[in-house]
Parts: sequence; C-alpha cells; structure tokens
Amino acid sequence: MRGKRSATPLWMSFRKKRQTEGCRTSKAPSPLRSAGAPQIFMKLENRLALITGGGRGIGRAIAFAFAREGASIAVAARTRAQVESVAYEVACEFGVETLAVECDVADAESVGRAFAHTSEQFGGGPDILVNNAGIAETYPFVKTDEAMWQRHLEVNLTGTFRCTRLALPGMLEHGWGRVINIASIAGKTGAPYISAYSASKHGVLGLTRSLALEVGATGITVNAICPGYVDTEMTSRGIENIVAKTGKSADDALAVLKRASPQNRLVTGEEVAALALLLASEDGRGINGQAINVDGGTVLF
Ligand code: NAP
Repeated sequence: MRGKRSATPLWMSFRKKRQTEGCRTSKAPSPLRSAGAPQIFMKLENRLALITGGGRGIGRAIAFAFAREGASIAVAARTRAQVESVAYEVACEFGVETLAVECDVADAESVGRAFAHTSEQFGGGPDILVNNAGIAETYPFVKTDEAMWQRHLEVNLTGTFRCTRLALPGMLEHGWGRVINIASIAGKTGAPYISAYSASKHGVLGLTRSLALEVGATGITVNAICPGYVDTEMTSRGIENIVAKTGKSADDALAVLKRASPQNRLVTGEEVAALALLLASEDGRGINGQAINVDGGTVLF
C-alpha cells in the first residue's frame, strides 16, 4: 500500500533477462546483441539510467530508447505493475540489466529507498537521471486550493530536486553525469487553468539552469526537455476533462489540442525519447543548461 511498508519487496530486478529463460517476447533478439554479431558501438554502453515515472508514457519510451543503446535501466514510479512490466520488457528485448522500483517522488523516504535499492543492485548510483515523474491537473485559479498547489510542487518540482540531490554526488565523484528534466512548454509560457502545473514546471527550468551553471566544469550536464502535447495517458486525461467540462466530443477535444501545434498533431513519446538520448550520450556533451522544446513549433523560444 502506498506510503506504508508492504510485505513484498518494493523492487524487482531483471538480470540480462533474454539470457535466462522465461521471456515471453515474440520478437527476435536484437541483431546488435546476437552471438557472432559484429561489435557495434552503443551510445549508452556501461551507463546506468534511472528514470522516474518510467512505468508508462514518455518515461517508458525513454527506458526503451536508452536500453536500445546499451544502458542498464532503473524505472521508478508508484504503480508497481507498470514499472515491473517495463523493466521486464526492456530486459527481454535488449538483454540489459533492469530494476523496477516502487517509488513516490513526493515522499523523501521513498526516494531515499529507491536510490538505496538502485545502488545496491548496480553497485553505485545512476550515471543518467531522468526526472520525468509528473502530474497535471486543470482547475480555474480560484479552485486551485493549497493541496493541489502543493501536490504539483511536491511531485513536479521537489521530486526533481530530491532525486537530483541523491544522484549528483555519485556523478561528481565519477566526473561524468547527465540530469535530464522533463519539464513542459508550460514551463516557458502560461495557459489558463494550469497555474499550479505551469508554476511547478517554471521552477524545474530555474533549477535546471542554476544547477547546469554550478556543475558545468565537472563533466555533468543538466538540461530540460519541454514537450508540447504528447500522446500519453496524461493527454488522454486532459481530453476527458475537456469533454466533461465543455460537452465537446473526444474527437473535437483532441482536435483542439492538436491545433495548438503548427504541425497539427500530438508529439510522440519516442520523439521526446530521441532528444533525451542525445542529451544522455557523449554526442550531447556540449548541450548544458538548455530547455529544448519538442512541440512542433508551438512555442518559439
Ligand atoms: P503519464 O502517462 O501520466 O505518466 C506519468 C508517469 O509519472 C507515470 O509513470 C506515473 O506513475 C509517474 N508519476 C506520477 N506521479 C508520481 C509520483 N508521485 N512518484 C513517482 N512517479 C510518479 O504522463 P506523461 O505524459 O508520460 O508525462 C511524463 C512527464 O512529461 C511529466 O513530467 C509531464 O508533466 C511531462 N509532460 C507531459 C506532456 C503531455 O502532453 N503528456 C507535455 C509536457 C510535459 P505512477 O502514477 O504509477 O506513479
């Protein structure tokens, strides 16, 4: 149960799953990892990535993109079944070591336990931290009460702070690290009914820029990605909300969100993951302190 110690462990590890029996995947093994395949350089070989909110949506897409490039993966979120499923699938598909950790980033103790399990499993903290866990609720400002305000700050902003604070010492020790914060274009602009969300994401950008300057000479980069509307459950919930509040059909509500982008479409999780991969890799080492939009041109700064 959330917030209480459960009888079963809060983490589950999957070691080189394809090499052990039991993978239910019907996919052929990756040609990059088959016996006799030529040695191909993988961008994240020997890196450990911890992805918060890795159980679905953007975090899940990032877990797959990083594992495809050889990273070991720890995924952390509150819904155990989802993180276990991603860790299992990734281990099966790419043969990398994975860990699923039940974690609430709004709870400092829970985050501490997640990092402790990760260190125990992999012999050290993450080389790459993706602060992706997030919530978004929409209310008029006068209905935005203290609890809702605090929820957004706790998960989206303080959760990012907490995880980064635990990941950074190991990165500083190794002289290499990547912190990638999944913010939002709402962290650059405002929009009606999302004061709490937008404020929390503006905070994430402030944190990103300040820390990037602080650690710039240490081999660590700190960046943010600012997606527009992405085709995930978060956006589906937004559509349900528009339908409930306005009486529009789901198709019309979706069309409204698509039209926010000059490309007249939603972004995919994989598109966000492609940028996260660049930021995580050696190729991205010159990018620091940036807040990069993946929004089809919705916002032009
Ligand atoms: P999603 O499908 O709702 O996934 C959110 C993930 O965050 C889930 O794995 C969720 O798992 C996890 N999470 C939520 N609260 C958490 C908590 N307290 N502790 C740990 N994990 C938590 O949303 P998404 O679209 O993939 O969003 C991912 C990130 O992208 C968020 O930061 C969001 O603000 C940002 N973003 C999304 C969009 C969009 O249009 N979808 C646009 C811009 C930015 P549990 O609920 O199981 O904990």
